[in-house]
Amino acid sequence: MQDERHDELHQASPLVFIVSGPGGVGKGTIVEALVARDERLWLSRSWTTRARRDGERHDAYHFVSRDEFEGRIAAAGFLEWTSFLGQYYGTPLPDAVPGRDIVLEIEVDGARQVKLIHPDAVLVFLLPPSRLEQQRRLRGRGDAEDKVEARLRKAEEEEPVGIAMADHVVVNDDLELTLQELSRIVHHERKKRSN
Ligand code: 5GP
Repeated sequence: MQDERHDELHQASPLVFIVSGPGGVGKGTIVEALVARDERLWLSRSWTTRARRDGERHDAYHFVSRDEFEGRIAAAGFLEWTSFLGQYYGTPLPDAVPGRDIVLEIEVDGARQVKLIHPDAVLVFLLPPSRLEQQRRLRGRGDAEDKVEARLRKAEEEEPVGIAMADHVVVNDDLELTLQELSRIVHHERKKRSN
């Protein structure tokens, strides 16, 4: 408690905490649980042109048309944006809450851009325990088989890039253990910044 307050009083700038990893690794579930447990964390809501999945929360993204997205690119309204499997995804600007640390759940090209702008940003790259498990998770969320295959192929490209760039690589085998590990990293990084 004492430590927490010390961190809060002495942290100069917010921590930018990036969670990345291939599709089906469980990023969404993890970042949601992480911010629910730590009120100093604030989760950025991305913009995307991809259609909402059946059963996906309406506020999972700010779902927009290509015209709207391109309009915001032209207005320099993104911290980073990319095209991923034919759809745009981006982190809107300005969009942060004073005094809160920022969590970004984004793919590797976006992570690279954020690291260039904020060299202090902490990148955690998540890996699935196996391709088979990743495939099971991807199918479980109701994507069509061609989409599942495309995401698995994309993962082969993303993983070496993400691992090389990451500050921490975590295998998401057990959700609770992964959450504990990510919380530990957040606390460690806050402490470093408060010294
Ligand atoms: P999905 O379609 O599965 O929700 O997301 C596809 C990929 O885009 C995932 O790796 C997800 O983390 C990433 N993503 C989501 N939002 C953003 C964003 O704002 N910027 C970037 N660069 N990637 C994002």
